[in-house]
Amino acid sequence: MFYGEIKKCDIANGEGVRVSLFVSGCTHHCPGCFNEATWDFCYGKEFTEETEEEILKALEPGYINGLSLLGGEPFEPRNQEALVPFLRRVRERYPEKNIWCYSGYLYDRELLSESRARCEYTDEMLSMLDVLVDGRFVESLKDITLVFRGSSNQRIIDVKKSLDRGEIVLWEPKVKRGM
Ligand code: SF4
Repeated sequence: MFYGEIKKCDIANGEGVRVSLFVSGCTHHCPGCFNEATWDFCYGKEFTEETEEEILKALEPGYINGLSLLGGEPFEPRNQEALVPFLRRVRERYPEKNIWCYSGYLYDRELLSESRARCEYTDEMLSMLDVLVDGRFVESLKDITLVFRGSSNQRIIDVKKSLDRGEIVLWEPKVKRGM
């Protein structure tokens, strides 16, 4: 797997201060994509053992709330293959931190059902996530006032509750904004 960027102090892509990994490769090709260069699976740098260590170290400070995975598309099967062993390490070392993932694939219709994304790693990858922001970016539904998502079709899903209940449960912030 390759990645474009690691942000070590990101407040835009999930709750609290986070470490964000932007993986390379995306087959959705949404019109108006914010970063077309990341469609290429070989864009950026190779994701190695050293990259994993770098991210694990960046996750250590108490003020870091967790890890966010973005793309590109983290749920492209070849990216899942590289991310699952890494997520196991993150979960083991930091059980108290949360993991968010942004995917153009739909949770119910593509990740839990037969699709080009679904592979032997998908169930385990989903089981290690706390929050999934799903759905492709749709330019006509773009809304800059939305928090943690780019267009209004995208859903912020509480993955653990959704898997437990067998239905989609939307994520709710612990502290509601504006209150
Ligand atoms: S899913 Fe994201 S990275 Fe992929 S084409 Fe759409 S906006 Fe771009």
